[in-house]
Amino acid sequence: MLSRHLGIVHVSSGELLRNHIRDRTQLGVLVEGYVGRGELVPDDLVIRVVWEAVTAAVDHGGFILDGFPRTLEQAKRAYELAKPAGITADYVLHLAVPDDAVRERLAARAVEGRADDASADVIERRIELYHRDTRPLLEFYRDRGILLDIEAAHPPEEVTSAILDALGVRR
Ligand code: AMP
Repeated sequence: MLSRHLGIVHVSSGELLRNHIRDRTQLGVLVEGYVGRGELVPDDLVIRVVWEAVTAAVDHGGFILDGFPRTLEQAKRAYELAKPAGITADYVLHLAVPDDAVRERLAARAVEGRADDASADVIERRIELYHRDTRPLLEFYRDRGILLDIEAAHPPEEVTSAILDALGVRR
């Protein structure tokens, strides 16, 4: 929805990884186990696929990066890569959703066929890693002054509106 409203490319690290797994590429074979267990894919591999997509998107007016970075190390390395290329993040959106709502959403989404949504254990592991590895990023981006907190336990259309308001996008 956001990429449609803003006219910029949606780059989803998870989707890129799932495409590699589906296509049985060399990288897909390497990452399949991690994604299936709900573990984070090693930084080198995820940075490689994301960087390829981001550099392609830059030539098309910008991008919204979804699911990346997920660790402080990824954030720092992405910054070091992007800075010399003149690529910067204007905003970081924190979509705040209570864990129980996340559990419900993922269980409901399992009908769409994502294997990592179909197992309660894999969902729990992803939630655990979010708290351990990803939440510290909030302070990192808050300190840089680009973090926008969005209350996201609402239907998608409402969350999209809240984000566009926070970005100051006129509709
Ligand atoms: P997502 O589609 O964002 O829910 O991601 C699905 C899965 O892909 C995650 O559970 C991880 O296994 C992997 N993944 C996606 N993005 C990243 C990332 N930035 N770092 C490490 N692993 C990732």
